[in-house]
Amino acid sequence: MFTVKELVRPQTLAEAYRTLTEHPDNALLGGCAFLRLGNRKIAAAVDLSRIGLDYIRETEGFIEVGAMATFRALENHPACRENFSGMLPRAVGNVLGVQFRNLVTVGASVFSKYGFSDLITALLALDTDVELHAGGRMPLAVFLDKPYTRDILTRIYIRKDGRAAAYQSLRNSASDFPVVNAAVARLGDRWTVAVGARPAGARLAPAAAAALDGGADPGEAAALAAGELAFGGNLKASAEYRRAMAAVLVKRAVLEVSKCASK
Ligand SMILES: Cc1cc2nc3c(=O)[nH]c(=O)nc-3n(C[C@H](O)[C@H](O)[C@H](O)COP(=O)(O)OP(=O)(O)OC[C@H]3O[C@@H](n4cnc5c(N)ncnc54)[C@H](O)[C@@H]3O)c2cc1C
Repeated sequence: MFTVKELVRPQTLAEAYRTLTEHPDNALLGGCAFLRLGNRKIAAAVDLSRIGLDYIRETEGFIEVGAMATFRALENHPACRENFSGMLPRAVGNVLGVQFRNLVTVGASVFSKYGFSDLITALLALDTDVELHAGGRMPLAVFLDKPYTRDILTRIYIRKDGRAAAYQSLRNSASDFPVVNAAVARLGDRWTVAVGARPAGARLAPAAAAALDGGADPGEAAALAAGELAFGGNLKASAEYRRAMAAVLVKRAVLEVSKCASK
């Protein structure tokens, strides 16, 4: 369990950022589900719950998700259910139980770039931007490639462009982390393919997407995705198994998206 010397409850982002960056032992608190697994000794714990980041709203062309919105809120929000063939609620609905999803936050999950993340893979197949307090706004794919810096993820923006999407994951048991996962989206005749839990973090598979743009069949595109990305082995699965299963998941997701209407 982590320990906290001082709890700070800022009212503004500027105040939160100042405290976070004052000392290397200071840390932000999201839902604390992941922090509780470790034994970090936090000097000043910055509680983000009074800054007004616990929201999901539809703005002109986007679904805007505040950093303190929970997985459960994503699951239930009408904008998330009605867009992208309901892919977002399906992706996070796999994560443990309802009480847990009522706790864990979108900001901590995306900022932490967990390799096993269900949410990041799903967001990567959509047109998603990440906003950092100091680092500014950038596409999620750019953020994922950046080295770690101390910052606050404030919100994400998901473009409501009418794309059809599907999410697939493979788990050794229902409440476990995914062994591998995949998300596929289509806007008109342009495809996006993302694969995560490799066990490294989610990345786009551009060759597979380009093949689908050119009319390749799902099996061919799935083989390309499995071939163009790196896979590793750990206690959950070998690299070879992950690669083989990634091809299966991508093919299933492409077939699912092929049946959905998109703009
Ligand atoms: C037992 C268990 C099982 C899980 N299974 C899955 C799974 O199957 N699939 C899946 O996708 N995820 C899974 N997760 C991860 C979970 O979904 C969350 O991503 C994770 O718990 C982090 O969210 P949190 O709100 O609990 O963050 P916290 O534990 O509060 O924080 C995690 C880290 O993020 C930092 N942080 C918090 N907020 C911000 C912010 N706004 N900006 C920058 N940094 C911030 C904190 O300082 C800390 O370093 C699991 C987690 C646990 C504990």
